[in-house]
Order: sequence, then C-alpha cells, then structure tokens
Amino acid sequence: MIHLIDKLCEERRLPPDGYRRLLDCRDGHTLGYLQQRAQETAVRHFGHEIYIRGLIETGNRCRNNCYYCGIRAGNTALTRYTLSPDEVLACCRRGHALGFRTFVLQSGEQPPSADRPLAALVEAIHREFPDCAITLSVGERSREAYAMFRRAGATRYLLRHETRNEAHYASLHPPGMSLRHRLECLRTLKELGYQTGTGMMAGSPGQTTAHLVEDLLFIEAFQPEMVGIGPFIPHHGTPFARHPAGSLDTTLRLLSIIRLMLPGVLLPATTALATLCPDGRERGILAGANVVMPNLSPPARRGLYDLYDHKACTGAESAGGLRELEQQLNRIGYTISKEKGDYRHV
Ligand code: SAH
Repeated sequence: MIHLIDKLCEERRLPPDGYRRLLDCRDGHTLGYLQQRAQETAVRHFGHEIYIRGLIETGNRCRNNCYYCGIRAGNTALTRYTLSPDEVLACCRRGHALGFRTFVLQSGEQPPSADRPLAALVEAIHREFPDCAITLSVGERSREAYAMFRRAGATRYLLRHETRNEAHYASLHPPGMSLRHRLECLRTLKELGYQTGTGMMAGSPGQTTAHLVEDLLFIEAFQPEMVGIGPFIPHHGTPFARHPAGSLDTTLRLLSIIRLMLPGVLLPATTALATLCPDGRERGILAGANVVMPNLSPPARRGLYDLYDHKACTGAESAGGLRELEQQLNRIGYTISKEKGDYRHV
C-alpha cells in the first residue's frame, strides 16, 4: 500500500484498482502515510498558507429539485430570498476591507432571465474591486451566459459533477437533469478559459467505492483547477432526510488522494466538513486542503441558504471572526494568505 501511495505521488495517477484499494484500506498506518504525503505536497507548493475566499450566498431560489439539497424547488417550507445588487456589493465591501481578494457568488439555479442581471452585477464588482477574483457557483447555464459572465470579469467557476456514474446521478436528481448536460457545462467552462472547479459529496446516498473510483478517474482526466469535496449531510426537507451523513474519514481520504493527483489544485476544507465535525476544517487542511471559504452573506439571510441541516457558520464576516479563524489555523501551524491565489501550474 505504501508503494501505491508513492506511485500516486510520482505519477499523479493510479489504475482504477489502485484508487479502489486506497478507498477501501482500513490500515491506520497506510492512511497516516497518505495524509502525510498529501500534507507535504500542499506545503511544498503553497507553504503553510491558506487562501481565504469570501462566500456570498446571493439567493436560494432554485428551479432544480436535486434530492439531496435543502434549497430544492420542492422544499416549499423554505422562505426564499434574492440579494439585491447593492446588498451583494455591500458584502464585497465588507469583505474587501477585511482582506478578502476573492468573492464567490453562489446561488440556486435561476432562469435565463437572470443571466443579464448577474453579468451586470459581476461587472459592477469587477469595476469596484479590480484587484479581486470573482468566482461563480450558479449552476448549469447556457454557453452564452457563461461567456457573458466571463466577459463581465468572472474568472473562476465551481460546478461539482456530483457523481460520474449515470445511474447514480439519476438516483440523486429528478428526470429533467442529466449527467451528460452537467459534463457538457464543465467542458464549456474550461473552453471559455475559466479556472474550473468540480467535485462530489462523500457518502451521498447510494454511493459505492466503485462510484468514487469513477469520480477520481474523471477528475484525473478533466484536470480541474479547483475541487470541492464535502460530506453529504441530510436535510430534513428532502427525500434523503433519514439517510446518514457521509464520513469524515472518506472525506479526508478523498482530499488527500486529490492533492496527490493534482498537486497545485485549489482544494477547500468545506463548510460541510466543518459542520460534520468541530475541527473538520483543520483536519481537512492537515489532509491536504489549502482553501477555506468563510461566509460573507448578510447574517440575517444566512439561515435561509439551507443546503443541509445545522450548516456551520464561520463568522469571518467581522474582523473578530477572521482573527478567530487565523488563531484556529495558527494552532495547527498555518496562517491566512490574503493573496488572490490563482491556480498555478506545478
Ligand atoms: N446551484 C449551484 C450551487 C449548489 S450548492 C450548483 O448546482 O452548482 C453547492 C454544492 O452543495 C452542490 O454542488 C452540492 O454538492 C452541495 N450540497 C448540496 N446539498 C448538500 C447536502 N445535503 N450535503 C452536503 N452537500 C450538499
């Protein structure tokens, strides 16, 4: 097994069976070694520095009905909101004053009529904060819309593939949605020159080791600049309300494998990981992650961006909150980097 990890380090890839063996491994020594190599690799390329991204949840209206997600259209119990452009700009101003140099705008999936207003908002942010990167995470849109957002100043886009297996995809999403379309969107984003992020939940309902192997092979072939990995966490208003959450162990293991596969990748220790376990964020970093995404959304609306139950809230929207995050990172030997932190080929 040690040999397998060294091989992944050197060649940045493994045959499918190699990934399967790492995912199924139960030997603590081997897993410790995997984590150690992943941590070393992150430190070699990024030092003991963690990039911060200011997450702004711009609205929870969604036309999709993904079975796992709390803001799905079918959840009629949820109060819906959309931040006005002024509210989003106010979040950016607050974040910029604190030192954030990347803003991530995330929302539910909106109809095409929302494309132009979003492009106008991106343009306004870009004009006011030319020193910042703008990342979008607003789901499946047309090629024209992606191109328009790009021209407006967005340079990064997060769209998790969710699962690379057709049947598994179909068990997580309603009939109107398709894996084929999601992958097509990802290819388009890359073609348009976005730094593109993909990824999946660990422990989503019905997920098997074989599915995760397919996910890893997809990520290896796609070569994304960012990868989002977090545990599935049930939401009471979804068909998967009673399904158990994904495990910390699988999430950390995936982070480490991905760090070794893509040494320069931007890899967040996600909010879902921090929700699963109080020191999840730190453990993610020690497993190879190098990004955290504190929430800059207006506190009054935050509870409504309700993807899963008990979502953790790192209040780095205030100077005090950011200091607390810095202290958390200091305790494990890391500091916050206030660089824009673009992807670098290594
Ligand atoms: N509409 C956008 C943003 C979706 S929310 C899009 O489709 O890309 C961002 C991510 O949250 C999703 O890609 C999904 O992987 C994750 N997510 C949704 N529900 C979740 C849950 N119950 N537990 C953990 N992660 C979840």
